[in-house]
Amino acid sequence: MIAAMDIQITKASRSRINEIDFNNLPFGKNFTDHMLEVDYSDGEWGLVRIRPFQSLVLSPSLAALHYGQAIFEGIKAYRDPAGNAFIFRPFDNFTRFNISAARMRMPAVPEELFIEGMRKLVELDRDWIPMKNDYSLYIRPIMFATDEVIGVKASDNYKFMILLSPTGPYYAAPMRIYVEEKYTRAAPGGVGFAKTAGNYGSAMQVTAEAREKGYDQVLWMDAFEHKWVQEIGTMNVFFIIGNRAITPDLNSGTILAGVTRDSVIEILKELGYSVEERPIHIDEVIEAHRNGALREIFGTGTAATVSMIRELTYKDYSMTFDTGTWTVAPSVKSLLTDIREGRKPDKHGWMFKV
Ligand SMILES: *Cc1c(COP(=O)(O)O)cnc(C)c1O
Repeated sequence: MIAAMDIQITKASRSRINEIDFNNLPFGKNFTDHMLEVDYSDGEWGLVRIRPFQSLVLSPSLAALHYGQAIFEGIKAYRDPAGNAFIFRPFDNFTRFNISAARMRMPAVPEELFIEGMRKLVELDRDWIPMKNDYSLYIRPIMFATDEVIGVKASDNYKFMILLSPTGPYYAAPMRIYVEEKYTRAAPGGVGFAKTAGNYGSAMQVTAEAREKGYDQVLWMDAFEHKWVQEIGTMNVFFIIGNRAITPDLNSGTILAGVTRDSVIEILKELGYSVEERPIHIDEVIEAHRNGALREIFGTGTAATVSMIRELTYKDYSMTFDTGTWTVAPSVKSLLTDIREGRKPDKHGWMFKV
């Protein structure tokens, strides 16, 4: 267990929980009664505060707004049928948060602050964790530069916060995905492996163009040949070809090392699939589709868990699927959901009790 850390708690005078429609929870729109906040200055983290969720007063010269030193994480909390609250694999997100921080020249957040701060906040707002199947409490840690100086340099001051948002299923419907060849997301040596704000800002135009063409998202490809599969939006991607599950490896540093990706790899192995983490050429995908071996394509991520892809279009070649007949993505999703919601044993030690 983690030692007690001093947290200054100011409770909301009245809860807003009765104002929320728990049957209709669009992703990231509603926030719980409290938030966690701590400032970094003079080389150290200050007092950890939990206080009512509210707006911040910030200078327009705030460094993060100008030069993008901003990182985040996405984690989920669940309640089991007995009502006990659990957070899914928070230590993995903690490790990744500090990997992102280091790449953006931001200070590391101590484990106790990240984990115990989150645990305390979730404990305080535990009634906000929805209990419906596929619903959860989304946890959003963020850190951003808070120097009030317009000069291009690493900030001396930072703010770390944790927000909580009750959420329903993210992408309910199977998706149509466009293989992107004009724009790229990340190149070796860049920041593709970091959960940093600019990666998402630069994707907005690309996603909007894909939407205009009737797609939900793009499948990013490598920056040089536009032939090697990377990832989709905020999801890693898996291909089921015969009895093999194939997903891009992390070696080029151009994709996010998803915690869901890692969990799905474990579950696929348990289900008897051989899992290959390696470069995937788009021609291999098309060839597998042509000869009938390509059974399923799906995305994995905290927000969506497992999202089936009913269409993947490369140039003018469309691969379409009847996802109603699929077996792998639905069984991976339900096994993962059952573990998270406490209906199946947590053999891997993924659930952190609040
Ligand atoms: C967050 C994210 C993922 C998924 O990571 P999880 O830890 O599974 O949520 C994948 N790709 C990108 C670009 C992401 O930002």
